[in-house]
Amino acid sequence: MQKLDSKIPDGPIAEKWSRYKAGLRLVNAANKKKIEIIVVGTGLAGSSAASALGELGYKVKAFCFQDSPRRAHSVAAQGGINAAKNYKNDNDSIYRLFHDMMKGGDYRAREANVYRAAEVSNDVIDHFTALGVPFARDYGGSLDTRSFGGVQVSRTFYAKGQTGQQCLLGTYSSLNRQIAKGTVKMFPRRDMLDIVIVDGKARGIITRNLLTGEIERHSAHAVVLATGGYGTVFYLSTLGLGSNASAAWSAYRKGALFANPSFIQIHPTSIPVLNDYQCKLTLMSESLRNDGRVWVPKEKGDKRHPTEIPEDKRDYYLERRYPAFGNLVPRDVASRAAKERCDAGFGVGDTGLSVYLDFQDAIEAQGEKAIRDKYGNLFEMYEKITGINPYKQPMRIYPAGHYTMGGLWVDYNLMTTISGLFAIGESNFSDHGANRLGASSLMQCCGDGYFILPNTISDYLADDIRTGKIPDDTPEFEEAAKSAAGKVQRLMAVKGKQTASSFHKRFGKIMWDHCGMRRDADGLKKGVELINELEKEFWEDICIPGSENDYNQELEKALKVADFFEVGRLMCEDALQREESCGAHFREEHQTGTGEAKRNDADFAYVGAWEYQGAKEKPKLYKEPLQFEFVELKERSYK
Ligand SMILES: Cc1cc2nc3c(=O)[nH]c(=O)nc-3n(C[C@H](O)[C@H](O)[C@H](O)COP(=O)(O)OP(=O)(O)OC[C@H]3O[C@@H](n4cnc5c(N)ncnc54)[C@H](O)[C@@H]3O)c2cc1C
Repeated sequence: MQKLDSKIPDGPIAEKWSRYKAGLRLVNAANKKKIEIIVVGTGLAGSSAASALGELGYKVKAFCFQDSPRRAHSVAAQGGINAAKNYKNDNDSIYRLFHDMMKGGDYRAREANVYRAAEVSNDVIDHFTALGVPFARDYGGSLDTRSFGGVQVSRTFYAKGQTGQQCLLGTYSSLNRQIAKGTVKMFPRRDMLDIVIVDGKARGIITRNLLTGEIERHSAHAVVLATGGYGTVFYLSTLGLGSNASAAWSAYRKGALFANPSFIQIHPTSIPVLNDYQCKLTLMSESLRNDGRVWVPKEKGDKRHPTEIPEDKRDYYLERRYPAFGNLVPRDVASRAAKERCDAGFGVGDTGLSVYLDFQDAIEAQGEKAIRDKYGNLFEMYEKITGINPYKQPMRIYPAGHYTMGGLWVDYNLMTTISGLFAIGESNFSDHGANRLGASSLMQCCGDGYFILPNTISDYLADDIRTGKIPDDTPEFEEAAKSAAGKVQRLMAVKGKQTASSFHKRFGKIMWDHCGMRRDADGLKKGVELINELEKEFWEDICIPGSENDYNQELEKALKVADFFEVGRLMCEDALQREESCGAHFREEHQTGTGEAKRNDADFAYVGAWEYQGAKEKPKLYKEPLQFEFVELKERSYK
């Protein structure tokens, strides 16, 4: 029986972190050299953590499945990174950023963690500027900002539509500095298959070398997971194809609680599904909604070319329904509104499953050059994929799976329920409640990695200064390595006829239809049945050509799909128990008269954290009650 202790410190919200941090124990320089830390993942969370820990003098082993750390999925982030600098003098503040995130997350996040994320956001921007990240600057040379959804201030720092790439090059350069100094050892092309627990503490991981197939053991005094999100559960999503749930899932199977698995964000502005052969949907950044106006024709089935539909025949439905925030309502609200218009028959394009994002007014007001300067690479990307020039006619967009607010449960120290196992960035659940606001993920990833984890993990490691090197030949490592190899062999032995991708595609459709943008009890139950059937078929008919002792991408995919069935079941289970609508979790049964999400604070103001009970057993639900001392619980309104 686990006990959920979030370890939230006492005191006023603005002082919690500084007071708590001042009381955390340190490890002196000589002892740090004797302590090893494993960091799995080299996205913005992992590379910032690994480089910060290396800089502190710990011996870090960093892992990723790509050939280079800088190919982590964070490279895809487009629009920006938030900070409460108030450079625009628009009355922004740390409190306002915190408040916006609490409200944006529909009051299902932990106050103390959210405030801290907002608090360190300014340090993140200063640090990146010092590292040379080329953020956009205004005419006078100061850092420029723009707005993102769900806020009324301009606090998003950006580097054209390549903010993630530029920030990742920053963290990658600091990571490389540590690699050159010898404090960080990089292990690319490794797939983490299991966590090793010794005497109740995370003491290592098992990896598969993706080039040779070798099952390897790596020991350390603590393990940090920075393995990103699992939005690829829908198959079609805006994420990198390699993004997956498996590392976090192996921790779940070893006893780490998994929180709010069904809180998954559907982004409103992706390039729509165009045919049956797509394996990925490309995001058109939310930043475009600063200038782009979203609309559909007022008349059903109006097939005229968009430029021929006159102004009075266009329904700018976000501006109509949400005048206070207009096109910049949060993602969950914008996504549902798009789906509602399309389901009602007003959608555009051949499938009727898309809406327009139009820059005509902005181009007329600001000139094409100004728009090109802000969004040039996004427009170019859109044109390359669709063949349509968005300077001349509106983009077509539709919602797609994008970001997972759910993840491994962590306490205030970012430690999971397994001692010594930490989770940071998108892999944890902590900061975004039931809906993440745009540009706050990069902020959280880098805040976790650079400024929070290095302090809290040192406090944990202060008990390990006399432990000595952790051996990797103990029965626990033996057992974990054997079980990982066993799973690989079981998959290879099936020798069926269908590919991992074909299973993933069918599974993703089940998830989208039954646990996607809208959910209801019958659909969720049906979803579980369909997942069970497909999982059975998978284990009888998966085809993995080649050998496990070689480079084998089909095997890599199959390992991930095998875990996705379990993730999907838990998502449905979680969505089923949450008899309310909040943020991205929209239960048909719980909506207001105007179709907005209807929360039930009396019964559901908690984090739902699940404990694995065995492959065939029903997982156990723990509830961490959420306290609201510094924000008032209100019905979320963007009208
Ligand atoms: C298209 C797109 C645009 C976005 N734009 C923005 C934006 O503008 N602003 C914003 O704030 N957020 C944005 N986001 C969200 C943001 O990019 C991500 O939430 C964030 O980058 C996640 O970073 P991370 O470090 O947690 O994980 P990732 O960057 O996903 O990195 C995961 C790492 O874990 C490793 N890994 C995973 N599993 C294993 C395993 N089993 N074994 C070994 N290694 C493993 C991978 O190799 C990788 O190095 C966007 C997301 C998408 C999809």
